[in-house]
Amino acid sequence: MRNVCLITTGGTIASKLEPASGHVTASVTGAELRAGLHDPLDGITVTIEEFCNVGSYAIDLPLGFALARRIGEVLQDPACDGVVVTHGTDTMEESAYMADLLVQSDKPIVFTGAQYAADEPNPDGPRNIANAIRLAASQNASGLGAVVCFEQEFHAARDVTKSHTSRVDTFISAEHGKLGEVDGDRIIVHRRPVLRRNYRAEAVEQGVELIKLVMGSSDRFIRFAAENGARAIVIEGFGRGNATPAVTAAAIDAVKSGIPVVMTSRCQRGRVKPIYGSGGGKSLAEGGVIFAGDLSGPKARVLVSVLLGMGLDTDRLRKEIEYLGG
Ligand code: ASP
Repeated sequence: MRNVCLITTGGTIASKLEPASGHVTASVTGAELRAGLHDPLDGITVTIEEFCNVGSYAIDLPLGFALARRIGEVLQDPACDGVVVTHGTDTMEESAYMADLLVQSDKPIVFTGAQYAADEPNPDGPRNIANAIRLAASQNASGLGAVVCFEQEFHAARDVTKSHTSRVDTFISAEHGKLGEVDGDRIIVHRRPVLRRNYRAEAVEQGVELIKLVMGSSDRFIRFAAENGARAIVIEGFGRGNATPAVTAAAIDAVKSGIPVVMTSRCQRGRVKPIYGSGGGKSLAEGGVIFAGDLSGPKARVLVSVLLGMGLDTDRLRKEIEYLGG
């Protein structure tokens, strides 16, 4: 018999339409989610823990951190073989990456959710939970870190992203592909994530801003963040990691004032690399901006919040980001 703990946090998978307000809100309990599974899950016992019941657009860095801590505590129980976390899809990739960075365990950590609410006809939630439980119960999934399991596929927390606002096959790992799939009672692992590190943090830093660039972006957001308490700034820049001349100057000024600035790309695939001068990536790198490989902006922000929460200085921050960025 394998034992899986189902930790619930809310999201569409636990949401229903409230007729009076016309709002879809998280209200379904963990026991109701468990009772809604059609799969008998032979040989697996499931215990339920309700962590919170909110849409994941309301989950912030400290709550994501508390969730990662709780997952770690639950996995310390020798009787627990793996954890499934039900979570809204909007920020699932960020909570999953937080858990990947912070949970010290080789046991499976599987995040799942749904695009259809629990009271819609034919919702995707029950099959996603059942597949996630099978994955969390499987020894094949040990050592993969935190994964997102959705529509029979599972993805590394580092690489996965929500790619579609409403379709059930929303989660993709655009650059590196899925880790594997759940096919009934078979778990097939195609690859194992290599760029992983575990950290021990007592808190995360909330003051990490992510700023996305568009053609002609002004320096206003960067300068405002730098002058109003940001502890670090992540930029989602152009292509290989370029910025407008105004943003480049503001980013270099922020670095000079002691605020780490990290460059990622608004492209879905590929690495940032300092190449171009005249205000491009080379100028940014020469000014001390850290390049984050092919980590997305949201993942780089989670990583920076963990590293600053540990009190790392900018040199250590750079080393960790450059390693995990690939
Ligand atoms: N659309 C979201 C979901 O799929 C809402 C949320 O993230 O909670 O769960």
